[in-house]
Formats: sequence, structure tokens, C-alpha cells
Amino acid sequence: MPTIPTIASNRSPLMTTQSEIDITESLAQSLVAISGLTLKENEPLSRHTSFGIGGPADLFAIPSTVEALCSAIAAANDVGIRPLILGNGTNLIVRDGGIRGLVISISGKMSKIEIDGTEAVIEAGALLATICHRLAGEGLSGFEFAAGIPGTLGGALIMNAGANGGEIGDVTEWVEVAAPDGTLKRVRCERLGFGYRCSALRDAGVAVVRAGLRLKPGDADEIHEALCDRISRRCAKQPVSSPSAGCIFKRPEGDYAGRLIEEAGAKGMCVGRASVSSKHANFMLNLGGATAADVIGLIDATRELVYDRFAVMLEAEVCVVGEDI
Ligand SMILES: Cc1cc2nc3c(=O)[nH]c(=O)nc-3n(C[C@H](O)[C@H](O)[C@H](O)COP(=O)(O)OP(=O)(O)OC[C@H]3O[C@@H](n4cnc5c(N)ncnc54)[C@H](O)[C@@H]3O)c2cc1C
Repeated sequence: MPTIPTIASNRSPLMTTQSEIDITESLAQSLVAISGLTLKENEPLSRHTSFGIGGPADLFAIPSTVEALCSAIAAANDVGIRPLILGNGTNLIVRDGGIRGLVISISGKMSKIEIDGTEAVIEAGALLATICHRLAGEGLSGFEFAAGIPGTLGGALIMNAGANGGEIGDVTEWVEVAAPDGTLKRVRCERLGFGYRCSALRDAGVAVVRAGLRLKPGDADEIHEALCDRISRRCAKQPVSSPSAGCIFKRPEGDYAGRLIEEAGAKGMCVGRASVSSKHANFMLNLGGATAADVIGLIDATRELVYDRFAVMLEAEVCVVGEDI
């Protein structure tokens, strides 16, 4: 039997060096000088993830414009720091030691939506729910698949989020990204490498800034009805009101992770205050007070049970970032 891969520990050094402190302080000084940017220090990331879990970010910046975002990325690049871009934190486990350096949060801020005929140009911080309703109101169809997915457009493009047979890559014409030096580049869809819950953007180290989507004309009432139908089916099947990060594992070839986990007897299994949902076995829940270590322990234990029973190695869909305590 092969070794079951576990989510690798990422242990922080016992002490932050003086030069790391100096770099963070010098970056903080550059960031406060950027207009349209709010800066916080030691911000608990548990406030910004749907799991309600995660240690602090040394620096936490909230740009309200694309210009402020690019200036922050460039300032971080000048001191050798690659910031983590945070969308709505709905597909993310932040380890308990948090994130050294800079987190840039764009959820709900950079969120302009401009519509011209069947093309929509939308900033990355726009919530998918807001986009669904705006497009429906304009009688534009093609985005209904996203009903009930709680992320931002940027996070959806990174993950190629999808449901009900549709995914964001199907309607994307181009994406504008900020490179590590803060310059903007437009990339056409053919070069974005969209696949099942992945895209070439994920490992490119860029920030998604805005995207051009191509929709189809449709009937506004029918589109609204389709959105409501998808949301109520989701509520019936998923524990949507409990803190989670949605599906933890990708669908394995020809099967469903939820079915395998349920058949392996893992429904309801707990590690610390994290539990496999008894409503949908591919969801893990924070029962209140769970740590990232609890969730990661539960992911590893579930994967091992499924492997022992079915010889199928489940692959995590959720992103894991940060340092252990
Ligand atoms: C109840 C529930 C149901 C869900 N259902 C679905 C579903 O049906 N289908 C589905 O695909 N997903 C689903 N998800 C998962 C999640 O909502 C999606 O993956 C969503 O697209 C993540 O967007 P986000 O803004 O929350 O990204 P985050 O969780 O904030 O970030 C995810 C990753 O993208 C990166 N990122 C985010 N924004 C940017 C940006 N602008 N530029 C560069 N990098 C960025 C982050 O650094 C991180 O690596 C569900 C989650 C929950 C909690």
C-alpha cells in the first residue's frame, strides 16, 4: 500500500528574525501611504474565512480600487514579499499560526460590474451572488450555475468554480491579472488552462483583477426562477448554515467523494471540534472552536479510511495556507 499523503505541516520558526520584523515594518510604512487602502496589523484570519478558522496575518490590506491593489502588490514586491490574495475565504483553510507578511483582501470591495450587450466586465472582488442577480436582472443567461456558491469572482476563476454541469471557465473570455511587480496584463481564455476545479492562474502567483464574461440573452423571470431552484436544492442537500469550506475533496474519476466517505463510515467522525457533516459527507464542519489542526487531522483521517476501503486516494479541493503554531 502506498503512503497516504498527508497535508504537510508548515511549522513556523520559533522566533521571527529582526530583519523579518524590519521588512514588515518598512512594508507597513509604504502601505499606509497608498490612497484607497486600509491597513490592519495582526488581523485574525478566522474573521475572514467561512470556516471561522485561521491565525493572524502580520499585515492585512483592503484596497478599494484596482490602483490601490496594484500599488500594494508592487510595494510588497519591492521588499521581496509575495502577498496572499484573499477573496471571500470560502475555499480556504488558514493554519493556526497565520500568515507572515501580507494578506490583501478584496472581497466585496473592488466589485464593479459593467455590462455592454452580452459582455460583462466585472472586478474580482464582486460576490458571485451579486453577479448572479445583476445578470439575471439584465436578462443575461449562462451564470446560473454559480447560484449559491459563496465566493468572489477572483476566487472562482482561480478554482474554476462550478456546479450543476457549469463552471466559470465556460463563460470567461479574458482575465486581467496584476503581476508581482503590480503591472496589469490581459490573458485570453485559451491560455487560462481551465480544468476540473483548477486553472493555470492558481500557480501563476498573480492577482486576478477583473474578467470579461460572455453571456447569452435570456428571459429575466426564467433566470431568476432557475437561481431560486438551484439555491433551494443546495439548501436541501448541503449544511449551508454551518461554518465550512464547501466540498473538501475533488470528485474522483467516475465517482463521488461524498459517497466514498459515507460508505467508508466516516459520516459524523470528529477530530477535536471538527466533524464530517452528517448531511453531506464531503463537507467538514467547525462545531465551534475547531482549529485548523483539527480540520487537517480530519482530512488526513478521512482520506486514510477511504483509501483503506476503496483504494481511492482523495485529492483536496480546499486550499491550505499559512503556518502551524
Ligand atoms: C457552503 C459552500 C458551498 C460551496 N459550493 C461550491 C460549489 O458548488 N462549487 C465550487 O466550485 N465551490 C464551492 N464552494 C467553494 C468556494 O465557494 C469556491 O471555490 C469559490 O470560488 C472560492 O472563492 P473565494 O472568493 O471564497 O476564494 P478564497 O477562498 O478567498 O480563495 C481561494 C483561493 O483563491 C485565491 N484567490 C482568491 N481571490 C483571488 C484573486 N482575486 N487573485 C488571486 N488569487 C485569489 C486565494 O489566495 C486562494 O488560494 C463552496 C463553499 C462553501 C462554503
